[in-house]
Amino acid sequence: MTHTEPIRYLKGVGPKKEEVFNRIGIRTQEDLLHYFPFRYEDRRNFKKIKEIKENEFCVIKAKILARNLKKMPYFMRARRVKNILEIAISDDTAVVNCTWFNQGYLYDKMEVGETLIIYGKPRMYDGKLKFVAPEFEVFEEGEDSLNLGRIVGIYSSTQNLGQKFIRKTISLALDNLDVQTRDSLPFDVRREKNLPNIVQSFKGIHFPQSFKEAQTARERFIFEELFFSQILVYLRKARHRQQTADSFSVGPKLIEKLKQNFKFSLTASQEKALNEILEDLKKTYPMHRLLQGDVGCGKTVVAAFAFASAVSSGFQAAFMVPTEILAYQHAETFQNLFKGFGYKVEVLVSSLPKAEVEKIHKEISEGKIDIVIGTHALISDSVVFKNLRFVAIDEQHKFGVAQRALLPKKGINPHYLIMSATPIPRSLALSLYGDLDLSVITELPAGRIIPKTVWVTEKKRQWVYDFIEEKISKGRQAYIIYPVIEENEDEDLRSLEVMYDDLKKHFDKFKTGMFHGKLPPKEKLSVIEKFRKGAIDILISTTVVEVGVNVENATIMVVENPERFGLAQLHQLRGRIQRSSYEPHFILLSAEELSEDVVKRLKVLEVTNDGFKISEEDLILRGPGDFFGQMQHGLPELKIANPLRDLDLLKEARVFAYDIIKTDPDLKKQEHRFIREKIDSLYGELKDSFSLLEEKA
Ligand code: ADP
Ligand code: MG
Repeated sequence: MTHTEPIRYLKGVGPKKEEVFNRIGIRTQEDLLHYFPFRYEDRRNFKKIKEIKENEFCVIKAKILARNLKKMPYFMRARRVKNILEIAISDDTAVVNCTWFNQGYLYDKMEVGETLIIYGKPRMYDGKLKFVAPEFEVFEEGEDSLNLGRIVGIYSSTQNLGQKFIRKTISLALDNLDVQTRDSLPFDVRREKNLPNIVQSFKGIHFPQSFKEAQTARERFIFEELFFSQILVYLRKARHRQQTADSFSVGPKLIEKLKQNFKFSLTASQEKALNEILEDLKKTYPMHRLLQGDVGCGKTVVAAFAFASAVSSGFQAAFMVPTEILAYQHAETFQNLFKGFGYKVEVLVSSLPKAEVEKIHKEISEGKIDIVIGTHALISDSVVFKNLRFVAIDEQHKFGVAQRALLPKKGINPHYLIMSATPIPRSLALSLYGDLDLSVITELPAGRIIPKTVWVTEKKRQWVYDFIEEKISKGRQAYIIYPVIEENEDEDLRSLEVMYDDLKKHFDKFKTGMFHGKLPPKEKLSVIEKFRKGAIDILISTTVVEVGVNVENATIMVVENPERFGLAQLHQLRGRIQRSSYEPHFILLSAEELSEDVVKRLKVLEVTNDGFKISEEDLILRGPGDFFGQMQHGLPELKIANPLRDLDLLKEARVFAYDIIKTDPDLKKQEHRFIREKIDSLYGELKDSFSLLEEKA
């Protein structure tokens, strides 16, 4: 079995090619074999040019009759067209043209007389069919059986590795496989699921004899990926259970007393989440729980009970939040909720004077502070707790992988609560956070008014301004949100800095304020304080207000260039303005021309206020890569599986994984050693750490 050998052992892979492969993460022959085609072309039968149809994908093989590279004059360059390459090709049935814009470098690859294989969708121009920027390969006489006369895999080859070279190299790596090649997917699982073995699967996915074979092979790899992710989930879960934690004494008296300090009663789902958490805290192994719920559903008060349980059991507790503003705000909430409890609650943020920070450090280490609420300042080396046994992280997606992992390490197996306002569909939560138990708050407190959401384009800017003016005259306040602080040459976006001056002039009757992430911390606090007090009517800001800014009277929000944001993020922003009994208005102000996809996306916000639905839509529209890329770092990389699409496979994989870990929680059994090795190689050291939130090294 040689496929763990470096790719340079393969014929044709010199140092240069090796480096290119390395750049896309391919080092070993095994990596290479996992570089799957993203689609296939049926090259068993080429279409004749006479038979091609408008807007239908086809593969043709044809000879170049003529080529022409036209450099555009300068006045055209303003429209970003620098050159146009046009070729005419023919087979024995007809002639068709192909055009590329700004890809003049292709000219040299297109000698007249050569034969090309073209893949694309012809379109009609001036009554004639034509290919615009189709994919192509140059056909060489005596071409081997890898590239022609069969179903051919197409690889993403951005890094100048030609399709043919990739196919050739992969086929060499395949030749190195034999019956001895280890299959880490256990035989029993494969048999029960009727999946092909690893060698068949590699062959099937790269060089399939039929589309069915390609599909079956793909399914096996999807299943494998999900299976190992679920093994990891259960392995970690088992590990959590093996740890010992101090159990909290949470009596009904404490809970009742705390409830008396509330001006409201908990919603049914807050109660449910609370009970789940309190049950966990009584256990002698640490809680690992994710508390999910839409913006404004009241996660903080639920968490407050856990804090009270910790302190009344004689322990310290820490609350990490992404912004200083949020830290101060939670501290204020806690001061109110814990009135009469005698808890010492402190804020620890890096903008405090050095002496103050040192004092707080000292008091934390002496156990004088019961609850500390802070930013990443909490995980600094110089913070040492006396007996930290409960930690919570708010708006968890705002933290990096390492940061999240560090906080619990400040205590001894502390109970751990992670909070998130991005409602992730349960199916996905299973795969991504599967080692965390899940509590979900599904309803908003009674009496909230759902914001009216409208999407308008540039034409209605004046109307938007008038609307803001009218509402402010009635005593309300407004946010105007921009995607960027400064103008940027490459993008046609409204920027905070440029618009601020305009808006200030336009709204000169009112008080405007500017807010963004680059302001010094002190100024941030003071701007928000002014906004809270009503000394600022219109807050012109970036999305930093997304978390923690809680101003009840601000009920208007305008978002410019909303197409730049994910749905989940827009929804989170909208959450800022549903905090009072005044009717809130959420206005999306976009450019005139938007793509269909974007329109579809923005429309979702108009019709629903349900965070779960919105997340799901967002996921479907953008795909998990994009969705998580934006809001969430450090997920285990799923290369081929998509938990949303492959939900059934995920559920099956879960059952198999569960059965294995149930009988062998440390994967010590001889028959599981391949699983163990695979987990080690996939997830390395991190397999023992907290949750799937952590990335492989
Ligand atoms: P989030 O889940 O977004 O963190 P918060 O915990 O900040 O929400 O709560 C939002 C607001 O709702 C706070 O002002 C809080 O006091 C209030 N709140 C929480 N629970 C209830 C409830 N059951 N009834 C009425 N208001 C509530
Ligand atoms: Mg919150």
